[in-house]
Amino acid sequence: MTDDLAQELAFLRDLGYTHLDLNVAPAPPPAGDIGDDDWTLLQREALACTKCRLAGTRTQVVYGTGNPNADLMFIGEAPGRDEDQQGKPFVGRAGALLTDIIKAMKLTRDDVYIANVIKCRPPENRNPEPDELDACRPFIRRQIDIIKPKVIVTLGRFALQSLMEKGFSITAARGSWLDYNGVKVMPTYHPAYLLRNPAAKKEVWQDMKKVMTELGLAF
Ligand code: URA
Repeated sequence: MTDDLAQELAFLRDLGYTHLDLNVAPAPPPAGDIGDDDWTLLQREALACTKCRLAGTRTQVVYGTGNPNADLMFIGEAPGRDEDQQGKPFVGRAGALLTDIIKAMKLTRDDVYIANVIKCRPPENRNPEPDELDACRPFIRRQIDIIKPKVIVTLGRFALQSLMEKGFSITAARGSWLDYNGVKVMPTYHPAYLLRNPAAKKEVWQDMKKVMTELGLAF
């Protein structure tokens, strides 16, 4: 370590920093309809967030990927190990299945936006705690406000419950439209559940057909 770097680190420690976020801010989204500034500021805020204990154990903040002008947004639970390493949502086994679902809808991951209700990996992939969901909820809400999708697909119980702030049962709620501030929400099963219960893929496909009909996509 150079003397300059050692001095800088000592300075930051004296200021009270306990860990450093070495993430490089992702490239800004392509210029489009959205206010680039709002988006960039929100990304920057998320990448520097220390509002809950997950900031102390994460490798990277997983903000979201895809088209910030998308009509369709997929919202999952929280990053797992692969996502924490790569800084992108749904890149592990469950992610491969989500990619297949998106392809079956004749779309690509670049056509949609993918994010989670929790931006940092819970240790050992444990369930998110209520206070962590509360601390992170403003990010997904502001992402939705900026993206203004026509349809949101929530993946699994935590995404549904956290977004809607209601104790829905995923089995009872899946497949029926809900409303989030004027945006249509289709709750469906989480791809990780489908890996354990492949028979449930049939129901998810029924849900995705409703989404495609809503968006005017042929199937
Ligand atoms: N599961 C999620 O809910 N989100 C991810 O990003 C990966 C797995």
